[in-house]
Amino acid sequence: MTYTSPPVHNLCMTGAVRTMEKCPVCKGKFQGEPLRCPECKTAPRRYYLDLWWKGERHRIFTGRDNYALDSWERASRLLTTIRESIDRGSSQSTNARLWAGITCS
Ligand SMILES: [Zn+2]
Repeated sequence: MTYTSPPVHNLCMTGAVRTMEKCPVCKGKFQGEPLRCPECKTAPRRYYLDLWWKGERHRIFTGRDNYALDSWERASRLLTTIRESIDRGSSQSTNARLWAGITCS
C-alpha cells in the first residue's frame, strides 16, 4: 500500500460533509455549505462524512448510537466531534467501529 498525503496538510485529519443524493426536482448536484441545489434550493435528506486519514478514505454514514445524518447541522457537528477527538488523541469518545485506528501521531 502506498502512502498518500491527504489533500490538506496542516490538519490532523481532513474531512467533508457530503451527500449521495441528487436534487429530487432537477436531478442536479447539491453544492456549497450547507449543501443545497443552486437552482431549486432543495436540501439533501441524508448526508455522510468523507474522511481522509493517512491516505485512506473513511465514509461515515451514522453517528454514535446509529442516528442518521439527516441534516447538515448534525453531519457537521459529528465531523467536528471526530476532529476534536482525534486532535486530543482520545479514543474513548470515538466510535471504534467507525473510525478504528484513527489517532493523531
Ligand atoms: Zn434542483
